[in-house]
Amino acid sequence: MNRWVGKVCVVTGASSGIGASLAEKLVDHGVVVVGLARRMERLEESATVFAGKAGKFHPYRCDITKNEEIINAFKWTTSTIGPISILINNAGFTNYTTLTDGDETIWKRVLDTNVMGLCLATREAVRSMKSNGIDGHIVHVNSIGGHTPYLNNMYPPSKFAVTCITEVMRKELIQAGSKIKVSSISPGATDTEMLRAHSQEFVDTNKFPMLNAEDVADSIVHILGTPPHVQIHELIIKPVGEI
Ligand code: NDP
Repeated sequence: MNRWVGKVCVVTGASSGIGASLAEKLVDHGVVVVGLARRMERLEESATVFAGKAGKFHPYRCDITKNEEIINAFKWTTSTIGPISILINNAGFTNYTTLTDGDETIWKRVLDTNVMGLCLATREAVRSMKSNGIDGHIVHVNSIGGHTPYLNNMYPPSKFAVTCITEVMRKELIQAGSKIKVSSISPGATDTEMLRAHSQEFVDTNKFPMLNAEDVADSIVHILGTPPHVQIHELIIKPVGEI
């Protein structure tokens, strides 16, 4: 039987970009995907488009900056859809503001979305996996910004945190004797709503074709497709031409 069929996967930030593309690829493989985001109309549109594919797509409204909403989303998934095998921590937010005299509401939103939301979602998924005896897989959608700082933005610090959190989580699970895998993928410039909303100037002036959401989604499928004894720690994917 196809190894993907019937597996339950939660994708955060499934309403657009990398998350929406990945959700479609996983549903094509027969995975049962629970897609979390705030824009329910986008999620419901995907559910309609994906109908008839091998797997299934369940939209669920969840603001990843709200602890109760995250906890409820994972409880609902485990009790209504089934025990979780895969979590893709993909939801992300960026906006420019300096760190020395900038807007702390933006700092907080970036950190709540990219760091706290990821940690809480992981804790809930790991609880679901452990209580159901599943050696699952957690993938964090990190960024080149998690390895190279750039200016006037809390985004790189938040993604540096993801780089470190990935390692700490993996070590914790290994130490506890768990076979749950933790991987991170760090894309370079990817042509999505996020990039266009916050770096239109970059989009207009860059000299190379960017990645598209499908390129990154394909690499995540590759990470998930490794045999049980193989664990990809970190995968960096950039468009040719990006320094
Ligand atoms: P998109 O803007 O297309 O997707 C972002 C997703 O995050 C949306 O589905 C959005 O859903 C969700 N999201 C944002 N805030 C929240 C929130 N508070 N609660 C729930 N969901 C939220 O951009 P990308 O596909 O590019 O982004 C996906 C990931 O890829 C991010 O983690 C980003 O940091 C990372 N990345 C992107 C790169 C790029 O160049 N585009 C490069 C490197 C990494 P909704 O608004 O409906 O809630």
